[in-house]
Amino acid sequence: MKFSIQSRRDSQSNELKKLAITYLQEFGLTYDDDQPDIVISIGGDGTLLHAFHRHSERLDKVAFVGIHTGHLGFYADWKPSELEKLVLSIAKKELTVVEYPLLEVTVHHKSGDCEKYLALNEATIKSPDVTLVMDIELNGNQFERFRGDGLCLSTPSGSTAYNKALGGAIIHPNLQAFQLTEMASINNRVFRTVGSSLVLPAHHNCTLKPVSDQKFNMTVDHIHLIQHDLESVKFNVASERVRFARFRPFPFWERVHDSFVSND
Ligand code: NAP
Ligand code: MN
Repeated sequence: MKFSIQSRRDSQSNELKKLAITYLQEFGLTYDDDQPDIVISIGGDGTLLHAFHRHSERLDKVAFVGIHTGHLGFYADWKPSELEKLVLSIAKKELTVVEYPLLEVTVHHKSGDCEKYLALNEATIKSPDVTLVMDIELNGNQFERFRGDGLCLSTPSGSTAYNKALGGAIIHPNLQAFQLTEMASINNRVFRTVGSSLVLPAHHNCTLKPVSDQKFNMTVDHIHLIQHDLESVKFNVASERVRFARFRPFPFWERVHDSFVSND
C-alpha cells in the first residue's frame, strides 16, 4: 500500500508527519505523493481540503483520513495521541471507506469556454463593491432574482462549515444532496427572495445567471477565483464521490455534537 501525508506545516503537524512516515515505512508501506492509496492529512479540516484538491483527479483510487492538531475537525477526527493506533489500523486492517457526495460546479463564459470544479465543502459567489444580482434557475426554470451579498452552495459534509455560519441546515452526508444558502438577501416591497435555504436532491440542478456585466468573486473550498464575462454557473451533485478511510465508528451526529454542542 502507498501512502502520502499532507501537513498543515506547523511544527506539531510536521513532527507527526515525520513519525507517521517512519512508522508506516517500518510496516512496509511506501511513501508516494503522486499515486497514494491513502492520504493522511495532519492539521485541520482546511488541510484536508488541500489534500482533497491535490488528489481530485483520482478520487476513486484514494481514501483520506485526517488527524487534527488543533480543534476537532469534521474531516480531521483523529487525535495526535492516537497516531500509533491509526498507523496500526492502516497497516493491519482491511480498508473500509465511507463515501460522501461532492458538488460539481460548471462555469460557462460568454466566449463559450467552460470550466468544471469539484467542491468538498462549498462554492460561493459574491460581487466585489456592488450588490450581487443573479437569476436563480432550478432545473431550468426561473425561481427568483436574488439581490444581496452572495450565495453559497454546499455539500452535505460542507454544511457544517460556511453554510452553517449563514444559517443553513446541517445535512447528513448520507444524503445525496446540495444546499443553496443566501448571504444577506435584500427583501423589501420591491425585491423578493425565498429567504430559506433550499436542499436539492441528486439529478436536480441550480443555475445562476448574472443580470448585468459584473465581475464575480467565486470560491471553491479554499480556492479563490475571479470571473469575468460570466454566462452562467451550474451546480449539481457530482458523479464523483470522496472516500474517507474509517477504522472506527465516529458517527456524523456525534461529530456535530462534539464540535458545536459540547465535548464532554
Ligand atoms: P479557514 O478560514 O481556516 O476556515 C474556517 C473554519 O472552517 C476553520 O475553523 C475550519 O476548520 C472550518 N471548516 C472547514 N471545513 C469544515 C467543515 N466541513 N465543517 C466544519 N468546519 C469546517 O479556511 P480553510 O481552513 O482554508 O477552510 C476553508 C473553508 O472555510 C471554506 O470551505 C469555508 O467553508 C470556510 N469558511 C467559513 C466562513 C465562515 O464560517 N463565516 C467564511 C469563509 C470560509 P480548521 O480550523 O480545522 O481548518
Ligand atoms: Mn483552516
